[in-house]
Amino acid sequence: MFPFAKAGATSPASVIPGRADAVSAHTTGASAPLGIYVHFPWCVRKCPYCDFLSLAIDPAHIPHDAYLERVLVELDARSDEVIGERRLRSVFIGGGTPSLWDPAAIGRLLEAIVRRFPSDPELEITAECNPSSFDAARAQALAKAGVNRVSIGVQSLDSERLGFLGRWHSPDEGLAAVRAALDSEIARVSADLIYGVHGQTPAAAVAEAVRVARTGVTHLSAYTLTIEKGTQFGARAQKGTLPLLPDDTVAESFLEVHAALADEGFEHYEISNFARGGHYAAHNIGYWQGDEYLGLGAGAWGTLVTAQGRVRYRNTPSPERYLDTSVAFGPLATDHERGLVQQLEPIDAETALRERLLLGLRLGRGVDIGAMAAELGVDAWPRERRRAADRLIARGRLLEVGTTLTIPPSQWLLADDTIASLL
Ligand code: SF4
Repeated sequence: MFPFAKAGATSPASVIPGRADAVSAHTTGASAPLGIYVHFPWCVRKCPYCDFLSLAIDPAHIPHDAYLERVLVELDARSDEVIGERRLRSVFIGGGTPSLWDPAAIGRLLEAIVRRFPSDPELEITAECNPSSFDAARAQALAKAGVNRVSIGVQSLDSERLGFLGRWHSPDEGLAAVRAALDSEIARVSADLIYGVHGQTPAAAVAEAVRVARTGVTHLSAYTLTIEKGTQFGARAQKGTLPLLPDDTVAESFLEVHAALADEGFEHYEISNFARGGHYAAHNIGYWQGDEYLGLGAGAWGTLVTAQGRVRYRNTPSPERYLDTSVAFGPLATDHERGLVQQLEPIDAETALRERLLLGLRLGRGVDIGAMAAELGVDAWPRERRRAADRLIARGRLLEVGTTLTIPPSQWLLADDTIASLL
């Protein structure tokens, strides 16, 4: 699999998994940075490639306020378990399709969150938006609610490919959504693109990326289409009925998109992410650095340092269960017993180091393995890792400067394999 697939915002463990100058600033002490991820689990339809927790719903039946009330109760319970002082650096409302959620509910949620934690002066608040539920009025309402960054799922500017991907918006609607966001008070606008789709030449992938870049977006995420088990595409691939692009065409697209976006002034700061003017995705950088984040909502993942140590948890993926007000939210361990938390696992120091390597090496800035190991109290260089690193360095696939490791962009196509060798 190529290393530039979309890392699921809701499934950190699946990849064990969005400002690069903060890479070496990771701490878990007083005033450590905190992110909050809120999952909104509904969409108008299910895309055939999607393996996120997203359930099709008639928008008229979305329980806007009931869901908000449960997230607020969960916020109180989870916040009680955050130890020490935390500085809220980012809030990310993902899904699903959060642009379907009543902006007034989002506003109340954000008010409660910022009341609960001291905020970074540059607090980033992102909402994922689908072009089919986002226009100028929605942009204005989200800005009023406190959202200062949107991530718009444009995915493609070609009708045929949008149809293949099961999207229900047109290329013009994708561009109109981006323009509506850019014309609003929302300061930062990101667009998602999927490339490496059947029928798409590298030149076509470049043309789409450049067209979106020239709208004025500050950030672009470009992911290759990946086929996941449990999706409609996964089933078709298994039967051999899903047309796919050859790997070398996808690799060519990756290299050409990288070069074209560099010409447009974008920094390729993470394998699948590009930023202009330093507008990195602070929330995702928190994931990639292994920072703590509170996960709220059905199906949300979270990683916290609690009185019991560092833990990862995943909330029940069932909205019905999550919305059941007869079951109160409490400590994580109790919620695990009650079924509100589906998974709860301790993360030991060795695992934490491996996860930070796994994710941090996706960043252009790489990782300071010496600082990470010292912070976690583990050995950075067991013999096998040292040998593997020396082999990779000799082949030009890894750079080591002082205690910082980076994968040169020219070697990103091999990043998965490089990272696996170091774990
Ligand atoms: S809109 Fe996004 S979250 Fe919803 S089904 Fe499609 S890809 Fe999944």
